[in-house]
Amino acid sequence: MKKSVVLYPGLGVGHLTPMVELAKVFLQHGAAVTVALVEPPTKSPDFSAAVARAAASNPSVTFHVLPPPAPADDSSSSSDGTVAHRIVMMFDYLKAMCAPLRDFLRSLPAVDALVLDMFCGDALDVAAELKLPVYYLYSSAAGDLAVFVNLARATTSYEGLGDSPVSFPGAPPFKASDLPKEVVNGSPGAKAILRALYRIPEADGILINTFESLETQAVRALRDGLCVPDHSTPPVYCIGPLVSGGGEKEHECLRWLDTQPDKSVVFLSFGSMGTFPKKQLEEIAIGLENSGQRFLWVVRSPRNPEAMLAQPLPEPDLDALLPEGFLGRTKDTGLVIKSWAPQVDVLRHRATGAFVTHCGWNSTLEGITAGLPLLCWPMYAEQRMNKVFIVEEMKLGVEMKGYNEEVVKAEEVETKVKWVMESEGGQALRKRVVEVKERAAEALKEGGSSHAAFVEFLKDLDT
Ligand code: UDP
Repeated sequence: MKKSVVLYPGLGVGHLTPMVELAKVFLQHGAAVTVALVEPPTKSPDFSAAVARAAASNPSVTFHVLPPPAPADDSSSSSDGTVAHRIVMMFDYLKAMCAPLRDFLRSLPAVDALVLDMFCGDALDVAAELKLPVYYLYSSAAGDLAVFVNLARATTSYEGLGDSPVSFPGAPPFKASDLPKEVVNGSPGAKAILRALYRIPEADGILINTFESLETQAVRALRDGLCVPDHSTPPVYCIGPLVSGGGEKEHECLRWLDTQPDKSVVFLSFGSMGTFPKKQLEEIAIGLENSGQRFLWVVRSPRNPEAMLAQPLPEPDLDALLPEGFLGRTKDTGLVIKSWAPQVDVLRHRATGAFVTHCGWNSTLEGITAGLPLLCWPMYAEQRMNKVFIVEEMKLGVEMKGYNEEVVKAEEVETKVKWVMESEGGQALRKRVVEVKERAAEALKEGGSSHAAFVEFLKDLDT
């Protein structure tokens, strides 16, 4: 009989995208898929637009927006403005969403599996109450998962260790300062995140958006139970890379790329939330101009350091933010676009030759599957760890020096951009990424490791 699954992406557009890609895989395997959506507590045009886009391009998937939870009745729910408190509020909100999720699941005639986002650990209790098989989609690197489930069980603090090396089963050694500070700073927000990560091994299985040969060590450590010493680790299924298909055709930057030579353009984009202060934007601009290379650069307005990452930003005033005359002087070789690019389409365009990335996992996979060498400039969340995996282990990128200092200097931008586009080292790096791109495609084909892992997962669901 046709399987029916419910995917629960929790909050945030970044968490919706990989779930939608997973929905497509379920459809390919003949299942019926419903995505149960949590509307953000404050109205978000980005969320509505992302849902509308996902629904329009995936008519066979049912998108159901859950009703909001009953309002909290204590005053502690008003934010004190700190990031930590806002994280706590997010988890409280997700916990409160368990009731609407339970009611919705009960209303469905049949559910064969519930698939959770990494932050939705409280929904494990809903699955237990309704006796539903429950899985996670872990949408970042297997290496991050290996570290986080272990970190969530740590009895010592990782705060304030600076650049001292730390090691975790399944991951190459890295600096303590590469761990996300929101997770290790001992705040109530950090505790809430660690509680969610701690619960991941309670699921019946973990689907990971990676492929076996990309992260052999981390996957082995997870399977061998090295990362979770106090609890059995459920089956781990590497089913990726799940990467959005793109499909934007009309964007001005694609038309501009059409006029550029093959593999000649460096693309710079820093995720859905990355922003820089004016000083850093100026350094990038000078570095790009001095490099003489062609570039396509997504620029956002600087964010107030106290603001939440996901807070919407106004359109950037490029003339005010970039060095005087920069746009005019580079108009024949470069294009700056405001706020948002059709990234997947840009990365796959024949004219794009390298990717300066913040190392978000979706961007990383999108870059790899486009066969582009990565210039790694991590910014927030687990991106510094991803940078270590990309540079030290996968050897698919190099680091932009200074990412962990006040600014990455113009000279560094110039040097690395020239290196990746002009040097033998840059050529060798591109060749390696192209090989891995081919391995990724193999993994997804029938009989490939990711395809086989999904088939095995469906089989396990039946037992
Ligand atoms: N993205 C995009 N255009 C932009 C910036 C980002 O399409 O101008 C997409 C990108 O293709 C990726 C996602 O937003 O799919 C960002 O996810 P990632 O995991 O890389 O980083 P995050 O935004 O979660 O930090």
